[in-house]
Amino acid sequence: MLDTDIKYLKGVGPQRAKKLDKLNIHTIEELMQYFPVKYEDRRTLSCINSVKDGDKVMLKLKICGKPSLSRPRYKMTILKAVGKDETGCVNLTFFNQEFLKLIDGESYYAYGKVKVSPGLIEMISPEIEAVNIALKAGHIVPLYGLTSGLSNNELTKLMRTALETYGKDIEDVLPEPVRKDYHLLHKSTATAYMHFPTDGRKYAAAKRTIAFERLLVMQLGLLSVKNKLKSGDDGIAMKETFLSERFAESLPYELTKAQQRVIGEISMDMDSDRPMNRLVQGDVGSGKTAVAVASMLIAAGSGYQSSMMAPTEILAAQHYETIREYIKAAGLDVQVEFLSGSTKASEKRSLLERLRAGSIDILVGTHALIEPDVIFKNIGLVVTDEQHRFGVRQRAMLSNKGKNPDMLVMTATPIPRTLALMFYGDLDISVIDEMPPGRKPVKTEVLKKSRKEDAYSFIKKSVDEGRQAYIVAPLVEESEAVELDSAEEIYNELKYGIFEGYSLGLLHGRMKSAEKDEIMEQFYKGEINILVSTTVIEVGVNVPNAVIMLVLNAERFGLAQLHQLRGRVGRGSHESYCILINESSSGRSRDRMNILKRTNDGFIIAEEDLRLRGPGEFFGTRQHGLDSCELKSLVGDVALVKEVQTLAKSMLHDDPYLRDSSYFRLRQQIVKLFRDENIVFN
Ligand code: ADP
Ligand code: MG
Repeated sequence: MLDTDIKYLKGVGPQRAKKLDKLNIHTIEELMQYFPVKYEDRRTLSCINSVKDGDKVMLKLKICGKPSLSRPRYKMTILKAVGKDETGCVNLTFFNQEFLKLIDGESYYAYGKVKVSPGLIEMISPEIEAVNIALKAGHIVPLYGLTSGLSNNELTKLMRTALETYGKDIEDVLPEPVRKDYHLLHKSTATAYMHFPTDGRKYAAAKRTIAFERLLVMQLGLLSVKNKLKSGDDGIAMKETFLSERFAESLPYELTKAQQRVIGEISMDMDSDRPMNRLVQGDVGSGKTAVAVASMLIAAGSGYQSSMMAPTEILAAQHYETIREYIKAAGLDVQVEFLSGSTKASEKRSLLERLRAGSIDILVGTHALIEPDVIFKNIGLVVTDEQHRFGVRQRAMLSNKGKNPDMLVMTATPIPRTLALMFYGDLDISVIDEMPPGRKPVKTEVLKKSRKEDAYSFIKKSVDEGRQAYIVAPLVEESEAVELDSAEEIYNELKYGIFEGYSLGLLHGRMKSAEKDEIMEQFYKGEINILVSTTVIEVGVNVPNAVIMLVLNAERFGLAQLHQLRGRVGRGSHESYCILINESSSGRSRDRMNILKRTNDGFIIAEEDLRLRGPGEFFGTRQHGLDSCELKSLVGDVALVKEVQTLAKSMLHDDPYLRDSSYFRLRQQIVKLFRDENIVFN
C-alpha cells in the first residue's frame, strides 16, 4: 500500500521517520514523490592524464602500494594512498576516514574534484566505491534536498528500496487517452526515471510526465473553483455606490481611465448576487489603494463591513493611514479601524466588540485578521493586498468569516499574460494598465562592482541636499540567519565607514514588527537619512522624500523583484534614481539588468523574466500546497503550461464535474490539493 506509514519501510524505523518528517515525508508514496533537486552524471570515466585542475571527475583506479595512516592530532586521521590508471598516477588523501579499506592491487571508482599542480595530481576525500559493488559509478546519481542527520546516500538507498518494493503499485493519475495523446509515460515509470534516470531522454520524458500531471491537477482545481463560484451559492448584491462616488469626487486628482474601468468591473461584480472573486493587477504606483477604497465604500454604502489585509505591519499601517485620510477628506461617516499582532489586548477587546456589533465599517490589518476571535457582524467584502504572500488557504479562511463575501485581491506582481490563467484560473482579472499622470520615470543605472564607491558618493551628495536613500543588501541563500548577517554587516561597515556622520537605519526580516515600525517611522520622518535593508521594504512602503534605491548584488534578484524595489522611489516631486550594482561578470546577468534600464513597464519586465528564466520562476508567487521549489525545477517551458491549459479547459467543457470514471484519480488529487477550499466535485 502506498499510503503505508514510512516508518514501516525497510531501513526506516522511528528515528529515521522523524528525520523524514522534516522533509514532509510521511508515507511511502510521499517518499517516492520526493524528487531529486539535482543530478550528478557519473556515466563517463576520465583518464588521469586528461583531467584539468578543479574538474569533478570519475576515475577508475588501481591502488598501488599499501595506504598509509597517520594521526597528526587527537581525533584526526589522514589516510594516504596512490591510485593509477593506464595514463597516470593520482595521490589520494582522506581525512577521518580510517575505516576505508583500500587494498593494494584492487580497483576502485573515485569521484571528486581533482587538484592539478606541476608534477602532481591529487584528490582530497573523493567518494570511493569498490568496482564490483558500485551503485553510483556508471550512473546518473540523484541528489536530494536533505535534513540534518540524513545523508544523500541514506535517502538514495531508501528510495531504491521503496521503488523496488512499491514502485509498480504507483497508479496513473492521468487518464489513459491523455497519457497517449500527449506522449507521456506511466506514472510508475516516470517516478522511477525521476530518481534514477538512465539517460537524458528518459529523464526529460519523466519530468514532462510529472510536471504535466501536477499542472493539470492545479489547473483543473482552479478552474473548478471558479465554476463553482459562478454557479454556486448566492453571494451578496451590493448596489449602493453613493459613498464611493463622493470619495472619487473628493480626490485631489482625477482617477485614471484604467482605475475607473477597474472600479466599474468591481462594482458590477459586487452588484450581482454571485460572489466576486477578482484579482486586480497593477504596477507599483498605479493607484490600487484608491480602487480598493472605492470598493470598500460600495460595501459600506450598502450596509456591509469590509476588511483589508496586508502582508506586513508597516504596509497595513500605511494603508490604514491612507484610508483614514481619504475618508476624512471626503467627509464621510465611515468607521475605519486597525488590527495587528501588536494591538494591545485591552484595545483589541473593545475593537472586537465594536466589530461584532457592526459599528466598524472597515477593518485594516495583518494576518491577525484571520484569527478565529475576529468576528464580523456582516462582512461583505474581503480585500487582500499583495495576496501572493497569503496563498489561497488564508484567503479562504477570511472569506469563511462571512456568508460568501466578495473577494478582491490586489497584486503589484505582474504575471505575464501567458501564465496568468495558470496562477489565477480561479479569479477574474482586472488590469490597471495606466499610470497616474505626472510621475517622473525613475532613472536606472547598472554599475559594476568597482563603481560601488561612486554610488555611495552619489548618495552622500543627495542626502546633503536633503533627500533620503535606500540601500538594499543581498539575500544570501535562503536562510534568514545569513540574510541578517549580510544586512547587518553592510550596515555596520557603512555606518562606521563611508557614511560616518550620517544617520543610518537598519531594517531586516528578523526584527520584531514594533522595531520595524519604529525604524520606518524614523525614516518616514526624515530622522534616518539612509535605510539599509533586506527586501522587507519590497512591498508598498511610501516615503516620497526617498529618491535613491541602491541595490547591492542586484544579480541575485529576479527582475520583477528589482522592479518592485525601484517602485519604492520616484514617489515625490524630485528626480529619482535606481542604481543596480551588478557583481556578476556574466554577460547574461548584464543583459538581464539592462532590461530594467530600457523599460518601466512591469508587464514587459515580467515577460522578459519569463523568456530568460522560464515559467518556473513564477511559481513562488502563489501557493496551492504545491511545493513551489519543486514546480520551479519541474516546469521548464511555457509550451507545456499552455498545452495543459488548453486540455484542462476542454476537459471541463466536456465534463464539468469530471464525473467520468476515468477521472477518478484526477479528482482525488484535485480534492487533496485544494482540501481547504470548500469546492469542488463533492
Ligand atoms: P499602488 O498601491 O498601486 O502601488 P498607490 O495606491 O499607493 O499605488 O498610489 C500611488 C500614489 O499615486 C499615491 O500617492 C496616490 O495618492 C497616487 N494616485 C493614485 N491614483 C492617482 C491618480 N489617478 N492621479 C494621480 N495620483 C494618483
Ligand atoms: Mg499598494
